[in-house]
Amino acid sequence: MITLDFGALAARRPTAQQSSSRKSLSQLSLAVARSKRIIVITGAGISCSSGIPDFRSSDGLYNMVKSRYPDVVMKGRDLFDASLFRDPTSTQLFYTFMAELKASIDAATPSPTHRFIKTLHTKGKLLRSYTQNIDGLEEQAGLVGTSSSAASKKGKGTLKNLKDIKSVQLHGDIHRVRCTICSAEYRCEQHHVEAFRTGEPPSCPDCSVRCQDRVARAARALAVGTLRPSIVLYEEVHPLGDEIGTISARDLSRRPDLLIIMGTSLKVHGIKKLVKDFASAVHNTPPPSLPTRNKTCVNPFSRKVVFINRTPPAGEWEGVIDYWVKSDTDPWVQKCEEDWKRFRPADWEVQGTLVGNPILSPNVPSKNAFKVVKRTPRAVKRELAPTWHLLDFPCTDYLPKYSRQRERDQTESRG
Ligand SMILES: [Zn+2]
Repeated sequence: MITLDFGALAARRPTAQQSSSRKSLSQLSLAVARSKRIIVITGAGISCSSGIPDFRSSDGLYNMVKSRYPDVVMKGRDLFDASLFRDPTSTQLFYTFMAELKASIDAATPSPTHRFIKTLHTKGKLLRSYTQNIDGLEEQAGLVGTSSSAASKKGKGTLKNLKDIKSVQLHGDIHRVRCTICSAEYRCEQHHVEAFRTGEPPSCPDCSVRCQDRVARAARALAVGTLRPSIVLYEEVHPLGDEIGTISARDLSRRPDLLIIMGTSLKVHGIKKLVKDFASAVHNTPPPSLPTRNKTCVNPFSRKVVFINRTPPAGEWEGVIDYWVKSDTDPWVQKCEEDWKRFRPADWEVQGTLVGNPILSPNVPSKNAFKVVKRTPRAVKRELAPTWHLLDFPCTDYLPKYSRQRERDQTESRG
């Protein structure tokens, strides 16, 4: 694994190693601009600058909520473990915590990194973004997510239009609520949040209607479920696990040409497996066929796995991750975009669409015969051409259902 020190960019008199890092960082930007099928995997680090509180830190949101429940003996990370539902008090604390977390997330806006991922999509380079975050900021930046209303069928948590989904939310979405019995899903509204804040979950309208119908027919009443945040806790299976397995299997077969991992410590079992599968696919993607005279110009970052994070990856990633960019994600995406604009300005040119009546009449001044109605980046027009369709690929069921399983020796609760 090669380390690229982002701090080298600021060095006034760079050492030989810093000069090498500078050159490599520019080559990496160019590789991003040239890639065609990028997979992005992200974690909590990309949302820090959006104002999402670090809910693991000792003086964070958790302690504020915990002060209302002095009798509960629980660590912050236990709030994301399904076993919390075994105890009524820890369940109450969970709901109160979720209400406060939702309020904080509602006040957040996408970071430069979220907008960069959207740019990759707009420029026709993003195969898919996979995130461990539950804040839905990718969707706010403009990507269709697994919990977007455009992607989900009404009611039950199943997906339609898999090909339109660009952001896969591996751990669910705090902006949705789901029934504990019938799995009906709703957008999380203010009245749900108010109920959570008291520690009590609201009951499920779907279940309530079915129960009332039966009672009206003098039949036995049915159990009514409660609504919980539609996030995936440790030891829980993702309700959309089958669909996520199908999407990732198809992405693996699409020969991704770059894997960018940002803002995650890669400590959750499910994400480790996903990264290893995609790294293997990226490394096995054949090189693009180049004219003989260009053979020496192959970018060293093409078909590579790049990790952008302030802290280094653990030793187990040796041989999986090729480059570690030692940096927060926002400064790196900003540099990457600046380089991209410099190296390939044509990718950023804006092109007008002309409409109008080309038959000039004497009553129409010639300068008004056409007018520019819409300015479209060139790459958007290119991307509009249907290049592939998810359903063209055979369904591969070899990927297990995505489940969120905690490592036994894990010290950190979220990736
Ligand atoms: Zn229900």
